[in-house]
Amino acid sequence: MTDKSYLPSHLRRLSRISLLVLLSACSQSESPQAPEQQAAPAAELTDDAIDLIIEGDYVITMDDSGSVIQSGAVAIDDGLIIAIGPAAEINSAYNANGHLEGSNRVVMPGLINGHSHAAMTLLRGVADDLDLMDWLQNYIFPAEVEFVDDEFVRIGTELACWEMIRGGTTTFVDMYYFPDMIAQVVEQCGLRAYISATVIDQRSPDAESAADSLVKGQSFIDNWKGRNSRITPIWGPHADYTLNAEQLSETRAAATAAGVPISIHMSESPFELEYSKNTYGMTSIELFESIGFLDGPTIGAHVVWPTENEIKILAERKVGVIHNPTSNMKISSGISPVTEMLNAGVRVGLGTDGAASNNDLDMWEEMRLASLLQKVSTMDPKALSASTVLRMATSGGAEAIGLRDKVGALEAGMRADVIQVAFDDVHFVPTYDVISHLVYVTDEQDVASVTVDGRLLMRDGEFLTIDTERVKREATELAARIQAALAERNR
Ligand SMILES: [Zn+2]
Repeated sequence: MTDKSYLPSHLRRLSRISLLVLLSACSQSESPQAPEQQAAPAAELTDDAIDLIIEGDYVITMDDSGSVIQSGAVAIDDGLIIAIGPAAEINSAYNANGHLEGSNRVVMPGLINGHSHAAMTLLRGVADDLDLMDWLQNYIFPAEVEFVDDEFVRIGTELACWEMIRGGTTTFVDMYYFPDMIAQVVEQCGLRAYISATVIDQRSPDAESAADSLVKGQSFIDNWKGRNSRITPIWGPHADYTLNAEQLSETRAAATAAGVPISIHMSESPFELEYSKNTYGMTSIELFESIGFLDGPTIGAHVVWPTENEIKILAERKVGVIHNPTSNMKISSGISPVTEMLNAGVRVGLGTDGAASNNDLDMWEEMRLASLLQKVSTMDPKALSASTVLRMATSGGAEAIGLRDKVGALEAGMRADVIQVAFDDVHFVPTYDVISHLVYVTDEQDVASVTVDGRLLMRDGEFLTIDTERVKREATELAARIQAALAERNR
């Protein structure tokens, strides 16, 4: 496509280049020594080169009109997308220091994982196919009590960042313990993240009580607010069955004071529904609304059991709902009414939840399962189409978490969080419809390159910010200790 709307809005460098070309032309007409004089502007052009050009057979912009550019390119400088358009035009307008070729590559925005517990990668597959309470009380909680410390969180989060980069996730919203360590790992690995200070009214690996977690969380927020533009410290009250109404209100007040969002588990399981009715005389989201908890940016994870009235509240309050289909299926939480919520105008994104209940962080699989689950639950094969679900994983997810002005689409002026998917493996043959393939075929192993803020984190499958051999060794050693302890305990 050569529509003019794709031409760069940011033309600073282009006009400089045009000017140089013009000057060069003038010199030529004035002097017979044209070749030498032409050399000078060429050197200046190199000095003025932008950082990176990423090309693809298709560039899927995920902008509001859903534009797809064939044989397209994205121009990146100083962490921003400065232009997007046909590769021939971008290449003639800009010199770039880095260049990713586009043959058999699809370029698109990085994926947004709206709900994770990253360090739980270390508990991947530690126990499966159990009743929720058996799984939690005999495996997950004991392993967490004994093993979750700063070091566990460092290794587990590095492992998660490795996997997310592998799979083309560029932004994630995390909730776990020792958030300072999570932030340090994210700072190092180059991803973008919202990192929650978890508030829970029980003894946890990093706090004694809700009051203690509020104090410690505040120091984390103060420590990281405004420190790194990729890292947003937020509040993560766990849920309405692990905190009382007063503690929930206190957390909202702290978030409002700091000007940061909240991420919380919301209406996840039938247990939660019953608990809320019995304890508060109303369902979870009605409780949140009644205490003013939704008076600020809120990311609600799961939302499997909302009532009709609650769906209205979610839409009115612009709550970002994060759908986690794999986790909902694996621990039998139920089927979230995603189609109804989208129809009611609720902002819905996608997430993986922790790797203990998934068991990976593959957002491509979440897209596929989200779509299939809606089709079978509504008995309508048109439900949650490929393009709708791709939007949930990119621009829709960005909107749900309040980052749509920065990421989620490829547009001039947005942060350069861009991925290339390699379309050369057997399952892409033939390719009739690239959007269909992205949702119904692609896996995390198909991602070729990943940039965040214009910085390459993975190039042609090579990891540039993580020492994967060291992480693998450390994770394997720690997992062996966890396995031995659980075997001893459950003997
Ligand atoms: Zn969760």
